[in-house]
Amino acid sequence: MNNNKNYRHLFGPVPSRRLGISLGIDLVPLKTCSYNCIYCECGRTTLLTTERHEYVPIAEVKEELYSYLSGSPTLDFITFSGSGEPTLHSGTGEICRYIKSSFPGYRVALLTNGSLFYDKGVRDEVLDMDVIVPSLDSATEAGFMKIDRPCSSLNVDEIITGLVDLRKEFSGEIWLEIFVVPGINDTEEEISALSEAVQKIAPERVQLNTLDRPGVVGWIRAATDVEMEKFAAGLDYEGTEITGRPSSRSGIGSFSGDAMESIMQTVSRRPCTVEDLASVLELHPNEINKYIQLLIEEGKIRDKRGDRGIFFMSSEDN
Ligand code: SF4
Repeated sequence: MNNNKNYRHLFGPVPSRRLGISLGIDLVPLKTCSYNCIYCECGRTTLLTTERHEYVPIAEVKEELYSYLSGSPTLDFITFSGSGEPTLHSGTGEICRYIKSSFPGYRVALLTNGSLFYDKGVRDEVLDMDVIVPSLDSATEAGFMKIDRPCSSLNVDEIITGLVDLRKEFSGEIWLEIFVVPGINDTEEEISALSEAVQKIAPERVQLNTLDRPGVVGWIRAATDVEMEKFAAGLDYEGTEITGRPSSRSGIGSFSGDAMESIMQTVSRRPCTVEDLASVLELHPNEINKYIQLLIEEGKIRDKRGDRGIFFMSSEDN
């Protein structure tokens, strides 16, 4: 685990189901995104934008990467992810190229909402990644608006075309993520539109995900196993997998017992939001999110909606 509190743009390594031991790079301030998804784990978008900038200095990110990677840590991936949409940072490509030229032994992944790939300049910047994990929650404008609540300049047809173009130009793997929201994107019409889009994009994998804790809005619920299976069958795409929940910590590539214990101790004293925990424990919110997920799955903590967002507390508290 990265205990150096001086890193401002790196977090983890975090245990990731899909990416194993993953060092995170966070390139935008919380919560800067071109979407305001109803299921976002990072809370409401405070800066809804498609403007690309050097939100954090490229030189600082490179310095931190140099410092961390010079110790030759064991990692499965270095992952662009974090508190918003990474491709909004104008230096995503430069930083990826830096990693590939200075530390060629590491694989690099990008978790993205895919909204900016209509722009050839953005597609060119991500060509050096090994894996791109874009999301596509609906292929209809109505579903897209309801789930992802995007910037007004974005439209879903352009985004799908951008993903199709990315597929033609990018030689690495594309793992497309679809977040299943019962009652919105699991109707026959929605699944059929998504199926058509997925065939055109032709990703190596399609990963179906659903809510595993309260979303930004109160009415959203998780899809049941039966609903997920039905969705997968309707999609009818060979590389489709339902993102499984590990039955134990051993199902995760890496985890920090210390971080889990610190979170348990803190929420046993008082209910905390992810932001509270990140501030008290000096860990990145994404790192906190990963451990909270495990603790919920193990039945050790529970959540409750409160005035400042979702609070987590010990399952033993009333
Ligand atoms: S795209 Fe990702 S970071 Fe942005 S609002 Fe949606 S889930 Fe959150």
